[in-house]
Amino acid sequence: MWFESSEGIAVAVGHLMAMARHRGHALTHAECEQALTQATEADPAQRFLSAWVALVPNERVSPIPAELMTEQRFPAWSFNTQGLPEYHPHPPVVAIHGDFWVVHESGVVESDEPVNAPATHAIRLALMTYKPVFIRAGLITVCINLLSVVTSLFAMQVYDRVVPNFATATLWVMALGVALAIALEWALKNLRHSFVEGITEKVDRALSQFFFDQALALKLDARPQKVGSMVAQIRDYEQVKSFFTSTTLFVIADLPFALFFIGVIALLGGYVALVPLLFIPLSVAAGMMSRRPLQRLQETQNDESARRHGVLIEALQQGEMVKAQAMEWRFGLVWQDLTTKLASNAKKIRSLSSHTQYFVQSLQQLAYVLMIVSGVYVIQAGNLTMGGLIACSILASRALGQISQLSSVLVQWHHTKSALDILNAMLTKPSDDDGRRVASTPSRELGYQIGPLAYRYERRGEPQFQCKSLEIKPGSRVAVIGRNGSGKSTLLRLLAGLATPTTGQVRLGGLDMQTARHGWLRANVGYLPQEVSLFSGTLRDNLTFGLNIPGENTITSALQATGLDRLVAKHPKGLDMPIREGGAGLSGGQRQLVAFTRMVLQQPLIWLLDEPSASLDRESEARVMAVLAALPAECSIVLTTHQHHWLDLVNRVLIIEEGHVRTDTTPEALREMASGAARKVSPLPRTAGGGS
Ligand code: ATP
Ligand code: MG
Repeated sequence: MWFESSEGIAVAVGHLMAMARHRGHALTHAECEQALTQATEADPAQRFLSAWVALVPNERVSPIPAELMTEQRFPAWSFNTQGLPEYHPHPPVVAIHGDFWVVHESGVVESDEPVNAPATHAIRLALMTYKPVFIRAGLITVCINLLSVVTSLFAMQVYDRVVPNFATATLWVMALGVALAIALEWALKNLRHSFVEGITEKVDRALSQFFFDQALALKLDARPQKVGSMVAQIRDYEQVKSFFTSTTLFVIADLPFALFFIGVIALLGGYVALVPLLFIPLSVAAGMMSRRPLQRLQETQNDESARRHGVLIEALQQGEMVKAQAMEWRFGLVWQDLTTKLASNAKKIRSLSSHTQYFVQSLQQLAYVLMIVSGVYVIQAGNLTMGGLIACSILASRALGQISQLSSVLVQWHHTKSALDILNAMLTKPSDDDGRRVASTPSRELGYQIGPLAYRYERRGEPQFQCKSLEIKPGSRVAVIGRNGSGKSTLLRLLAGLATPTTGQVRLGGLDMQTARHGWLRANVGYLPQEVSLFSGTLRDNLTFGLNIPGENTITSALQATGLDRLVAKHPKGLDMPIREGGAGLSGGQRQLVAFTRMVLQQPLIWLLDEPSASLDRESEARVMAVLAALPAECSIVLTTHQHHWLDLVNRVLIIEEGHVRTDTTPEALREMASGAARKVSPLPRTAGGGS
């Protein structure tokens, strides 16, 4: 298959990109490659087509038989017998195998309808996919329960027929039959288990991927402020999952058969069946009575467990600060407090569910006694044999046993339900994966039009950034300056499309950033955050992840340009040096250089740099500035800085105060302002390398 080799993938990528160019979409090589490798279809042609649909969701692909193709319908793809695609800008000279595939607008973007409870919806969908298997498992459940009646009938026959005249031959024949039935029941149970186990594994894999992807797709501003709580919320999925494992599902599947057993009792012993029938509502009522308090307790428990998780993560993540400021005791106190609460809550939950359980068990024993008592009267009336009564008692204990499981299933359900509510609440928050992100433009003239716009981190209070109208032309070189906390980073996050304006919009190249396709955005907009963190992996991974795999020479020259080559040369493993989570093991400046080198490899059109020199020494800083100064004229740069000499790089300066762009000027004018009027205080500190 072509998609199993990198050459094959490269060919397919070429054909995807050719069509994209024709249709006016700006797809990158990396995006196409990713889409092709992420597609799961086994058929190579289908895989290719589904990669296209994943990349350009608002367009459809249809097959057209070769004889119906007119010249106007080209370009089209065709697939050879191995499923390898080919792109035809014009009608091909030689006849092709099979149909042509053409791309056309589907008119509307097929965005998923918003669902109220996305987590529940996803679970339902995942389970429904395997409906046929569940139906089969259901049929097996019927057989298992039918077979289990055999044992009780055997007991009845033995007491009524065998014991009075010791017909041992009959006894052995019947025993053999029952043994066979038991063996069959055992085999069926195993079969049902393997059926359902197979599905739960697949459902689990699909769902855990779904929850992970959805959590990552949540807009940054919509996420819970605490990472720990979010981790705990996603971890709640485990609880939901464990409810849908085979054990619980079988208990639920077996429940209705309690009624079937009671039906058999009625057939054998008439009124005797009333006793277990009466005990069903009693047991259910006992389970229901504990429902509300259990649910409340479970909600608190989940809440507190999430908080405790958050404390642990925060304490570990901020290890340095915790030690430096001797904060262990504070975290220790919070931890202890939460642990105590959790333990006492867990005790309450356990005791409430045990009480219910014991009560139901006692009810069950009582029912047994009552059945025997009432059975005696029915025997006296001549409507039941002794064997019949024994069969009834065996059946009743089965039926009541199944009913008593109900309360433990209910307890588990409360736990699951509250976990599910949390997941549902999390997934209804705004996400980047809502099907709106389809826009892109092949234009290389990318300018910003911002505003009117307001942005708030929290949904209340004064906006942290707002502006009426701000334009950044293609090829601009802009410095954003202002005091700490004035909103510089916020503006850069808005320009990078990472922050979603609370009101208004940021347009790039005429497209609303919130509807721009991620692949296009990430290819064209490079963002260097103020605080760089790296990923665990190798240095090479950190430099190239998500980019078209750059050649060794390209990487080497980028490393030389930024001065990172010295770090690489010092390490025995060179570019394959391991990097730990967050980039621990590298200095702050080295981390910043890694992120900047990645940007150099990315070669975006728009360079957004949030205090690029914050932790660089003079030499590294000079290199970074040289790289930026040498960028082609079509590239735009927006940087924030507290350093005067960085203004040499730019031709426009925006001064931000309290979230407003107060001054929009040139570096020259700013310098004049600063040196000319001594009473006016420049917003920039004078540095040794300062240009004033
Ligand atoms: P600095 O020079 O220190 O980097 P800045 O100009 O980049 O400052 P921003 O990071 O844009 O400042 O912050 C602007 C305002 O937004 C500040 O008042 C800050 O308190 C607030 N802020 C920043 N990040 C968050 C956040 N995640 N949640 C809530 N408020 C925030
Ligand atoms: Mg900042």
